Amino acid sequence: MRFADIIGNQTVAKALASMADSGRVAHAMLLYENEGCGALALAMAYLQYLNCANPVDGDSCGECPSCRQMSKYIHPDVHFVFPVNKGPKSSDEKPTSESYIKYWRELAIADPYFVEADLQKAIGVEGKSGLIAVAEAKSIINKLSLASVTDGYKAVVFYLPEKMNQETANRLLKMVEEPPAKTLFLFITHAPEKVLQTIFSRCQSIRVLPLTKEEAAQVNAQKPQEDREEYDGFMDLFADLMNAIISRNLMSALECGEAMAALDSREKQKAFCIFASECIRKIFLIQQKLPQIADIPSEEQEFYQKISQGCGRKFCSRSIPYIEKVVAMIDRNVNSKMLFCDLVNRMFLSV
Ligand SMILES: [Zn+2]
Repeated sequence: MRFADIIGNQTVAKALASMADSGRVAHAMLLYENEGCGALALAMAYLQYLNCANPVDGDSCGECPSCRQMSKYIHPDVHFVFPVNKGPKSSDEKPTSESYIKYWRELAIADPYFVEADLQKAIGVEGKSGLIAVAEAKSIINKLSLASVTDGYKAVVFYLPEKMNQETANRLLKMVEEPPAKTLFLFITHAPEKVLQTIFSRCQSIRVLPLTKEEAAQVNAQKPQEDREEYDGFMDLFADLMNAIISRNLMSALECGEAMAALDSREKQKAFCIFASECIRKIFLIQQKLPQIADIPSEEQEFYQKISQGCGRKFCSRSIPYIEKVVAMIDRNVNSKMLFCDLVNRMFLSV
C-alpha cells in the first residue's frame, strides 16, 4: 500500500509522510476511524514508507523487497493483532491472531477497507464478539524482544484495541510506554472511548475522517466482486421477503423462506440472517426519523422508505430477536427449512 493508493484522507496521509520525513516518529499512535474509512490502509502506507529502501517524492517505491513484503502483509518486522474467538478455522484451544493470520492476510490484501464483520466472516467467527486476550500480549512481547530482521522499524498494528481486556493492557503497558528502539505501536480504533485509558493516554491520536460519498463509492468499486455479488443476492432476497410481507402475500413470503433454507451453507444462512437484521435496523432508524444515521445507499432509499411505512412500530423490535434465535439454532443443526419457515411466519405476523 502506497500513500498514492489511499482513497480520501489526504491530509492524514501527508501528516504521516511528513512525520516519517522529520524522523520524529511517535512510538504509539492511535488512528480513530468510522468503520471502513481506511485507517488500516493509512497505517500500512505509513509503515511501508518508513521501511522502504528507495522512497521517492514522499511515498514508498512499491517495488523494493520491503515494499513487496508489506503489500502482502508478510513483512517479518510488522505484526498484526486483532480480536479473535474460537471457531472452526482454528483448532487452538486459546486462539490468538497468529492462529488466523492467513485469513487476515487474504482479507486485507483483497480489501484493506474491510469492516469488523468482514474480519469475523474471514476468520469464521461470525456473530461472536472477538477478544484480544492476554496470550496475545505475551506473543507480542516475545516478538518485539527479538532484534529486527531487516534493520528497519518493527511495528505492531493493533486492530480494535477496545477489544482488549485489562489484563492484556497491563501486560502490554510497559512495552507501549518504553518500547525497544525503532519499535512502533499503531492502534486502529472504532470506539476511542472504549480504549483503556492507560493505553489511550500514551498514544498520539489521529482522526481518520469519514469518506465523502464519492470516496466511499470508489472504495466500494474496489471491493472484491464476490462480496458485491453476495450483497446483491442478499439484498434481492430481503427485498422480496419484505415486499411479500407488507403486501400480505404469505405464499411469496414462504417461498423466500425456502430460498433462505436453500442458501448453500450454514455459514451463508447465518450471514444472511446477520444481513437481514442490519437491514431491519435501518428500517427501525427510518421509523425513528433518524435516516441520517441509517447510512442507506441512495439506490436503496426508495425501498427502505416504502418498507418502513408498510411495517408497524413493533415490527423491528420483534423481528430482530427472532432472527438472532435462528442464528443460534443453525449452529445446533436444526432443520433449516423448518427454521426459516417458522421465521417467515413470525415476521409475517409481526408486521
Ligand atoms: Zn520500497
